[in-house]
Amino acid sequence: MDLPKLAIAALGGTVSMQARNAGEGIVPAVTGETLLESVPELATLARVSVETLGLLPSASLDFEFLLGVLSWANVQIQQGAIGVVITQGTDTLEETATFFDYLWAHDQPLVLTGAMRSAANAGADGPANLLDACRVALAANSRQRGVQVVMNGQIHCASAVRKTDSLALQAFSSTIVGPVGMLVENTIHYLRPPAQRKVLPLPQQTTQKIALLEASLSADSLMLESILELGYDGLVIAGFGAGHVPENWAEVIETIAGKIPVIIATRTGSGSTARSTYGFIGGEMDLIRKGASMAGLLCPRKARVLLWLLVGCQRQDALASYLSKD
Ligand code: GLU
Repeated sequence: MDLPKLAIAALGGTVSMQARNAGEGIVPAVTGETLLESVPELATLARVSVETLGLLPSASLDFEFLLGVLSWANVQIQQGAIGVVITQGTDTLEETATFFDYLWAHDQPLVLTGAMRSAANAGADGPANLLDACRVALAANSRQRGVQVVMNGQIHCASAVRKTDSLALQAFSSTIVGPVGMLVENTIHYLRPPAQRKVLPLPQQTTQKIALLEASLSADSLMLESILELGYDGLVIAGFGAGHVPENWAEVIETIAGKIPVIIATRTGSGSTARSTYGFIGGEMDLIRKGASMAGLLCPRKARVLLWLLVGCQRQDALASYLSKD
């Protein structure tokens, strides 16, 4: 039987980590080729090609590196892969998934996965997650769904998924909407039809800087006041509640929003920002009047990815249309 072609890339993360010497902490060391040895069953499902594109903790991935990974993935599709799987650290998985999703122009699935326990831990989840991710990437019903994250038997849309637990096996959730699908006895069940996606052109520049600041009780405005002087090209604020900041931030935000795009998201971890409920200074109505955009359901980190990409392809004027779908 002619098996379908599947491309896998390893970037690092816990799934690729082991200790060099007994008693030392784990570091990325295991190549994609070695990871594949933990899932021999995969050879019965697909013709697999694997590459190790990086051995990094996911905290050290960056947008330029991810653009290189994207171009590798594009080549795999052009060469006939029916899906692509990328393994990486889970710490920044919600951001990389968002980054790729805004740029993934294919019907074929791009699936990201990782592990919460390294291979040396009892009950290591890496092999199961990798095999699940490959099953999702190979499934016909995964087409036209953009980028998805597969962890712990669940499938999450890039736009909704967040890491909501630091160490638990069930570390990922899609707040409000829930997972988009799940694996049941190795088959892929989707709970919702594919969502409408808007794909951005590739950024022509990569030097843009987008700041992310979190509002907190009794915060001073020193860092905020330095944003323009420091040369930032955009600002995201993880605001209180439905997208609010302290009164002493509101005026500074107006000055900044006159020069660069400012997005206000919620720091709560779930839910949308408001648009027309609160009228106090620093409330969302005041901030909109002062030129800021509200992130809607996009979390602060995803909003920062979006703004980096928009500024990179000189589409910051279209920001509202990328936020309004929420
Ligand atoms: N828990 C993280 C992981 O799952 C730590 C390291 C990283 O994100 O690279 O991989």
